[in-house]
Amino acid sequence: MSGISRLLVANRGEIAVRTIRAAKELGITVIAAHSDADTDSLAVRLADEAVNVGGAHARKSYLNREALLAAAKEVSADAVHPGYGFLAENSAFAQAVTDAGLIWVGPSSETIARMGHKAAAIATARSAGVPVVPGSAGLLRSPEEGVAAAAEVGYPVLIKAAAGGGGRGIRVAHDDAELVAGMASAQQEAEAAFGDGGVYLERFIDKARHIEVQILGDGTRAVHFYERDCSLQRRRQKVWEEAPAAALSPEVRERICASAVALAEAVGYSGAGTVEYLYDQATDDFFFIEMNTRIQVEHPITEEVCGVDLIQAMLLVAGGHRLPYRQEDIRVGGHAIEIRINAEDPDRDFMPAPGRIESLVWPLGPGVRIDSMAYPGYTIPPYYDSLIGKLIVRAETRDLALARLRRALDEIELSGPATTLPFFGRLLDQSDVLDNHLHTTWIEQWMESQS
Ligand code: ADP
Ligand code: ADP
Ligand code: MG
Repeated sequence: MSGISRLLVANRGEIAVRTIRAAKELGITVIAAHSDADTDSLAVRLADEAVNVGGAHARKSYLNREALLAAAKEVSADAVHPGYGFLAENSAFAQAVTDAGLIWVGPSSETIARMGHKAAAIATARSAGVPVVPGSAGLLRSPEEGVAAAAEVGYPVLIKAAAGGGGRGIRVAHDDAELVAGMASAQQEAEAAFGDGGVYLERFIDKARHIEVQILGDGTRAVHFYERDCSLQRRRQKVWEEAPAAALSPEVRERICASAVALAEAVGYSGAGTVEYLYDQATDDFFFIEMNTRIQVEHPITEEVCGVDLIQAMLLVAGGHRLPYRQEDIRVGGHAIEIRINAEDPDRDFMPAPGRIESLVWPLGPGVRIDSMAYPGYTIPPYYDSLIGKLIVRAETRDLALARLRRALDEIELSGPATTLPFFGRLLDQSDVLDNHLHTTWIEQWMESQS
């Protein structure tokens, strides 16, 4: 039915579980690729088949292109879903999968290269008529070039790694000295983390909101599933997301969503993607910052308010189907909030806290969804991202969603490793959170004011 019959899930954790569930419902046989550290994972348990792709360290397994391709061949997969992180935005891997005669569940390798490299994507966005943040036109080749670009843009500025992701490879600079030092350290971090030290700079937009638009294309046409507000971030990483963005006027919402579709169609986008913007609440301006050419962590809140299954839509489009949606049929109902449950200790500067989950009771009831790989007795390995699950709630209004979030949070019983759950309890006591007076550095400012 989907055009795919045997899918290799080249990822782990909650997104592997989510993808396995979605694919099974489409009648697809699913094979979980897993490392030595994930032999007893929920993904392995839920998949129809499993295949070991190497050692515990991601470099040996989830980032090991040769091993993943060999595994796909060994299990006779006809498609590969990359999830997020790891190789999801690696254009060379996407190409290798296609070259092996398999379906890559995502945009083409060319599109990933064009939109996954941030400086290139900004140039593409600008030529598609999408507003971008004032900044250096392209990569900075020397500290002198950086200083000159910053003088033009005006301090403070952000230095950003072109290959960056997950909030890494970004530095703030308030003057020339900070700029030169920041360029060097951002380059170093990006080289180590992404194997690409290219950096560019952008004006720092103060007290902005992070607004992003979910899009889906089939190569000829694209639609949007409205927007998400991901302004609650810690160190430029999202911790709490909402849909829709209650702070947007209908007019701004319409423009921002239309610009995301225009960009997707300008590059003949195929698959699910997210166009990210900063929204300046003082001036009502929005600026493109990057595009993620993959499914995102926070996709469930869009699914909850739009009544779609984005992973299944990705699989259908990848399997050769035309977009099964007309824009006018896509509507938003109610309000959804997601919180990211990380195995980290909020009392110890969010230090990762892997270990065995002794007991676990998830919340139930209407409007509550859990996307997680955790189960009682599961040992969280120390080798990967600390995300162990997401609590997603949906209700008719934002206020009701907040009340539901509090109720669901109170129901969770998790003993063993420290998690970020208590942190969300504290967030829910803040009037700025309840009243939606938020911006991307709100959490940092709040935490500073408490210490
Ligand atoms: P999203 O963009 O989906 O909201 P994140 O920015 O947190 O979420 O990224 C999703 C996951 O992918 C995180 O675990 C993050 O560490 C990881 N990630 C993001 N970009 C990269 C990258 N370029 N290389 C490796 N891992 C990445
Ligand atoms: P990543 O690939 O790591 O997700 P992004 O470009 O999406 O990188 O930026 C991550 C976060 O950093 C944004 O959500 C926002 O909070 C902050 N940020 C990025 N660019 C700017 C900017 N020009 N001004 C202010 N904040 C920014
Ligand atoms: Mg981003």
